[in-house]
Amino acid sequence: IEDGGVVSESDKNLRSPICCVMGHVDSGKTKLLDFIRGTNVQKGEAGGITQQIGATYFPAGKLREMTKGLKADARLEVPGLLVIDTPGHQSFTNLRSRGSNLCDIAILVVDIMHGVKDRTIESLDLLRRNGADFIVALNKVDRLYGWKTCGNAPIVEAMKVQSRDVRDEFERRVSGIIGQFEKQGLSTELYYKNYDVREVTSLVPTSAMTGEGIPDLLLLLVQRTQRTMVEKLTFSNQVRCTVLEVKVVEGHGTAIDVVLANGVLREGDQIVVCGQQGAIVTTIRALLTPYPMREIRVKGAYQQHKEIRAAQCIKIAAHGLEHAIPGTCLYAMGPDDNLEALKNSVMEEMESVSGHIDKA
Ligand code: GDP
Repeated sequence: IEDGGVVSESDKNLRSPICCVMGHVDSGKTKLLDFIRGTNVQKGEAGGITQQIGATYFPAGKLREMTKGLKADARLEVPGLLVIDTPGHQSFTNLRSRGSNLCDIAILVVDIMHGVKDRTIESLDLLRRNGADFIVALNKVDRLYGWKTCGNAPIVEAMKVQSRDVRDEFERRVSGIIGQFEKQGLSTELYYKNYDVREVTSLVPTSAMTGEGIPDLLLLLVQRTQRTMVEKLTFSNQVRCTVLEVKVVEGHGTAIDVVLANGVLREGDQIVVCGQQGAIVTTIRALLTPYPMREIRVKGAYQQHKEIRAAQCIKIAAHGLEHAIPGTCLYAMGPDDNLEALKNSVMEEMESVSGHIDKA
């Protein structure tokens, strides 16, 4: 098991939830993930990569370590968390919509100093259209004038050491943002005051620069998914997999980046993928993932696997993938599957994505 040695602590057999990060440009989406990973993708760790969908796997052990300051009696029933990062630029609406479709839960990031912006509303609409569950991160709390840095302290602890002025400004900004969301027909409340999580969306103040509130955000994501989505998160042998990107990987030829949302993929599996010139039938030559806590877009060492259980973001190397179409499903041939039927299903999707391919 390649999740850093820690498997889930429960016998429920859950897969990792898939979480996507959305929000206005510059609200700190990339930086938030950088903070959790301990990386620097935001500063251009690999130039230009933010124009693709990114993904990072956070194993349960890491989540436990990062949330221990909350002293919550939280059993981790999921093996980890797969976080998907979608580009923020205007021209990537389709990519964002593709990313958000895959997700079990989303983080909608709002800059606490700037409040709700165009792209926040666009993301909100997308999430609601997909009926997606989400949490709002009120990011950049460290920008409140006079903020005292508290490392990755839980937000309630961090607030206790702030001056009266900082707390007043915080309250003012939070109620302003609650009002802005209200105008969009969305009820929100600070998560530690939210007693009606079914009807009211939780706000988690965070700093991606200094770390306050990050434990709260992670714990909330895990608790929310494993408490309310047990059925959806139950591991199944039925492969559910979406192609994100097609690209050349050094030493492996053309590969596709996919998100495996459920099921298992194995080296040697026969797969069927939607291609520009018809269904592509090929055999998995290599299954590669970045190391845990590393971003799939950043070129680096990959782990090679004999088999991978969902959820994971994977690079699949196989012959004939050059014309695979991003946004479509990948099918794996099981013993009871009919190849022609799979070829037909995969090509039916061509219609649904043809109006969907990014202009970029
Ligand atoms: P994205 O476009 O939403 O991915 O935003 P980025 O992660 O690229 O962040 C935009 C800018 O805001 C960068 O200069 C970050 O360093 C800065 N930033 C992001 N999060 C924070 C934060 O919590 N506090 C402060 N002070 N700056 C932040």
